[in-house]
Amino acid sequence: MNELTVIIPLYNEQEIINELYDRLSASVASISPDFILLFVDDGSKDHTLEKVMQIATKDKRVKYISFSRNFGHQVAVSAGLDHCQSKAVVIIDGDLQDPPELIPSLYAKYQEGFEVVYARRLKRKGETWFKLLTAKLFYRLMKRITSIDLPLDVGDFRIIDQKIVECLRQMPEQHKFLRGQIAWLGFRQAFVEYERDSRKAGKTGYPLKKMVRFALDGITAFSNSPLRLVTNLGIFISLLSFLIILYALYSHFVLQQTITGWTSLIISSMFIGGVQLLSIGIIGEYISRINTDVRKRPLYIVDKSNIDTN
Ligand code: UDP
Ligand code: MG
Repeated sequence: MNELTVIIPLYNEQEIINELYDRLSASVASISPDFILLFVDDGSKDHTLEKVMQIATKDKRVKYISFSRNFGHQVAVSAGLDHCQSKAVVIIDGDLQDPPELIPSLYAKYQEGFEVVYARRLKRKGETWFKLLTAKLFYRLMKRITSIDLPLDVGDFRIIDQKIVECLRQMPEQHKFLRGQIAWLGFRQAFVEYERDSRKAGKTGYPLKKMVRFALDGITAFSNSPLRLVTNLGIFISLLSFLIILYALYSHFVLQQTITGWTSLIISSMFIGGVQLLSIGIIGEYISRINTDVRKRPLYIVDKSNIDTN
């Protein structure tokens, strides 16, 4: 068993690979010579894979897995976790937003006996205000509606013990939300702080659509509050309509004056229609995830790799 494996998910990062490799290997070598750099190419459309393969021919400590197409960041990291055998595992983004030079500090803290050591960002450079705001709102919301203690201001950059890796392998969900899963597992967890850089080159692989899907994966995997909200909304609206029915009957039979209002009708039917669609949508989000879990397809398809899989 190696001392350390570093898992690096890559999606269209060709400009950065060489610098990434240099900085990673220099930083990790200061801890132990016995390490593996495991690059997971998540179906990149540029020359990311070729560059990684080139490096791997020169350096036996470089391993790679490449997917048959883009499966997403969380799946790429999961594939790395499936293929590593080390005492400790570092997960780091491949765009140099997470400085490889911080790994020795993470490792030092890990040596003190923590199974999970997060890198907590003090500042985030080069992010749009929109991303910062939505991220902040999302983590606030998660704190309120889930019972897991999701650490704030951390990404996926962290070091985890082999024990955590074993546990993660046993979690069968198809919609991975690793930071939530790791928080859910517990064990002793600690932090190391750093300033997050902006990306070195290339552009984000997390456009708004993927971010929304990621957020929904997190919420549905760790909270049933949205479902409860729908039920409560249903109860509230049923009570309200009961009162309105009473009023309608009263004004028809007792006051003998039927309301002429088109406005009130259209407003209430639009409102209830909206609430119903939203509620069905929320339920649908959960059902679609049950559906993918039931199918039990493999999480990813490996195209090329230099790891012995037997
Ligand atoms: N990534 C990936 N698959 C994807 C999108 C991103 O493997 O579908 C990788 C990407 O190469 C990077 C890391 O995941 O190493 C974080 O992605 P990115 O920097 O694009 O996200 P952001 O920092 O903008 O949230
Ligand atoms: Mg990034």
